[in-house]
Amino acid sequence: MSFEALGLDKPTLKAVLEAGYSIPTPIQRIAIPLALMGRDIMGIAQTGTGKTAGFILPMIDIISSGRSKARMPRALILCPTRELAAQAAENFVKYSKYSNLNMVLVIGGESFTDQEKALDKSCDVLIATPGRLLDLFERGKVLLNDVKYFVIDEADRMLDMGFIPDVERISKLVPVIRQTLLFSATMEKEIKKLCNSFLINPKEIAIAPQATAASTISQAVIFCNQAEKQTVLRSLLKTENITNGFIFCNRKKDVDTLYQSLEKYNFNVVALHGDMLQSKRTEMLASFKSGKAGLLVCSDVAARGLDISAVPFVINFDLPHNTEDYVHRIGRTGRAGMQGKAYTLVLPSDIKQLQAIETLMTVPIPRIDSKKLKNGTIQVLDPSNSEIKKTTTKKPVAKQKPKPDVTPKPETQSKRVAKTKVQSTNARKPLTNYKETKNRRGHDPDVGTMEHPDDVIAFGGYTPSFLKVTANTEESNKSVTEASNSSSN
Ligand code: AMP
Repeated sequence: MSFEALGLDKPTLKAVLEAGYSIPTPIQRIAIPLALMGRDIMGIAQTGTGKTAGFILPMIDIISSGRSKARMPRALILCPTRELAAQAAENFVKYSKYSNLNMVLVIGGESFTDQEKALDKSCDVLIATPGRLLDLFERGKVLLNDVKYFVIDEADRMLDMGFIPDVERISKLVPVIRQTLLFSATMEKEIKKLCNSFLINPKEIAIAPQATAASTISQAVIFCNQAEKQTVLRSLLKTENITNGFIFCNRKKDVDTLYQSLEKYNFNVVALHGDMLQSKRTEMLASFKSGKAGLLVCSDVAARGLDISAVPFVINFDLPHNTEDYVHRIGRTGRAGMQGKAYTLVLPSDIKQLQAIETLMTVPIPRIDSKKLKNGTIQVLDPSNSEIKKTTTKKPVAKQKPKPDVTPKPETQSKRVAKTKVQSTNARKPLTNYKETKNRRGHDPDVGTMEHPDDVIAFGGYTPSFLKVTANTEESNKSVTEASNSSSN
């Protein structure tokens, strides 16, 4: 399927083609026509699937026909981190070059005055982190009662970062009659609850599950003690000649310490964590993205969503506390069919957590002898080694495919349904309703989608790059084939 078949307007199509995309990714193929119809969407998808274009492209077409106003955005995109918001803004600029829409980015750590000035000029699209948006709202600098298109991106990360109360507040400030799209890499109970209160009769699109890493990533763990961690890391960097990669720490404090230490040892390194001044964060990230700095020591703030391709190495200086973060972190490498390597330093006290990760991944991760590493050679231990057996004896538990919670959340949901007069008595059978009521742009509702869509559209075999997502179409199979060809070259 081509982008032309999705129902996008010509200027948007032109921008997409100029961005170099010829085939929509699986999530784009499904989400774009649905969004153009005005459907609420619950997307279970990670970065790398092309989800950003999936919600920005239809947004551009939907709001293009309206009138711009100062301080009153008609589309709002909420992102959990400043970097992700800035990345969404970059995407918007790329895709909207042939539309006359004004976008304002409001994120913490930047000047209020500049953001207020930009809002005062005219604002069609507001891309924001929740805290700064609420600050500006409280100062009377932005009004949200004209928002028609509301995107909550990386909802699970919002949850992890404690932003859900802010998101709930914001959702009460936007009109009840609106279109809402929520994206999350995982669908835990709290996120389902949010969906029930924020979304009306949503279409669920799942590019899942998140429990596997791309086959292009080779992984290994290195056992060591706390005291020797930094030495082992430096040996690894030298032995493997690692000049470009992410190095993840669990704590911000450790990011600073490790950064200073690596700098002292003359590694070409920058650092990124949430407590740094925004100007510093922008500078460090730009330096890493441009290739000026080769190594980025970071906290999980950078693990999600940063679209930096061609990074060949990820090192977990600390084993992540959250098992799924392991998959997200190592997914920073091996993108778009390229080869990547992920190394993890593991302390004796980490064994249980490592076991949980291996259970999630359903495979044992090869071990490297840290002593050999110090001697300048890398020797991968045999996975039948007793230590490995100890950590992988549990049978892998099959990940359950998330099912949509169809029980409507009594008050908020039913109030909104009543107010919007959507005659939906069965959230799982929306076809008639959306055909009749939701095609605000006059597109054929069936363009680019299926005649009898199921409520859950799932693509198996998640990998961090959209190129690796499997779908049953010729085009995506081609992408997968191309990706695997390039990875084997
Ligand atoms: P995202 O998942 O939105 O972070 O996107 C991941 C990367 O895929 C970004 O670099 C996008 O520019 C790129 N991308 C998005 N859609 C397509 C497409 N249809 N074809 C090729 N690249 C794409």
